Amino acid sequence: MSTLADLLAQETRDGDLYDVLPDGRLRCYACGHECPIPDGAVGVCKVRFNEGGRLRVPWGYVGGIQCDPIEKKPFFHAYPGALAYSFGMLGCDLHCGYCQNWVTSQALRDPAAVAPPRRASPDAMVKDALRSDARVLVSTYNEPLITSEWAVAIFKEAKAAGLATGFVSNGNGTPRVLEYLRPWIDLYKVDLKSFDDRHYRELGGRIGPILETIRRLHSMQVWVEIVTLLIPGFNDSVDELRRLTEFVASVSPDIPWHVTAFHGDYKMDETPDTTPDMLMQASDIGREAGLKFVYAGNLPGRVGHLEDTRCAACGDTLVARTGYRIRDYRVTPNGCCPSCGTPVPGRFDAQFVGQIASRPSVIRLR
Ligand code: SF4
Repeated sequence: MSTLADLLAQETRDGDLYDVLPDGRLRCYACGHECPIPDGAVGVCKVRFNEGGRLRVPWGYVGGIQCDPIEKKPFFHAYPGALAYSFGMLGCDLHCGYCQNWVTSQALRDPAAVAPPRRASPDAMVKDALRSDARVLVSTYNEPLITSEWAVAIFKEAKAAGLATGFVSNGNGTPRVLEYLRPWIDLYKVDLKSFDDRHYRELGGRIGPILETIRRLHSMQVWVEIVTLLIPGFNDSVDELRRLTEFVASVSPDIPWHVTAFHGDYKMDETPDTTPDMLMQASDIGREAGLKFVYAGNLPGRVGHLEDTRCAACGDTLVARTGYRIRDYRVTPNGCCPSCGTPVPGRFDAQFVGQIASRPSVIRLR
């Protein structure tokens, strides 16, 4: 019987993001691991492999498709209320014990994580996104960097059809993959999991490439938002949160920082859940670090005004939210505060057409 890995090995094409090394191995540049891969071997992500001196990469399928409110990604400063047509692939370059998308991300590492792939084409996905009234097409659920060639094929068609595009990613990039994505990507959410390299090594990565990715994306004028899942006892010390938020503010105080609540999952189901008080204390640290837009997520209605977007100059509420639901929208057609005229950083359409969906819905690709 074929394994999932056997099936996926057939759904590939030659990749773009690699060099041939003098000893015949292939150096992959799709993520910060930069694996040197011998003939017949797979990279750390287990979905890219060296076959006779050519790097084969995932192509022509999805692990799942869903229509999400863009607030779920979360992007709060990009087309509020829009529907994000979201696709995931399989596999990841990290192995976080608390992963909340583990069925897709760990499908090739963990026999308990089973997510059968479905055939897909860029044309069919973009048509489906337009039929669904999506404004944005997003690669998410597993780590999109490891399937960047496939994402770019889809994003090219999406942008030709007038859609915005985005990644929801751990940010473990390389200069080469970011240059490759640059013409085709508008939005990038980075999951900044910790500010401690030892923690990143426990998850199978290094912090350096992630910080460099954030800097580069911002300098490339890709719209970046940062999320930190606040895990009690893992990344919630005052010192770590201060250093993390000071780093984000040093790149730009306009970058939104979402600090979100953990609930026990996957291999960390005995860690206590994050409380509203913990989120509010972390938010205070972010604001003290100089960040203008700090949000508390995953505990709707329990974190005061920390779900709302407020003007950084006058404090007026610009977008009022409860969870993914938009209760009020007051950004002007030219993207400013209606009270004081200060521009709101982000990507906004001239017209707010109302919220398309405030809940995720699973869809079947036609
Ligand atoms: S995507 Fe990352 S983990 Fe996968 S082969 Fe390339 S460098 Fe290695």
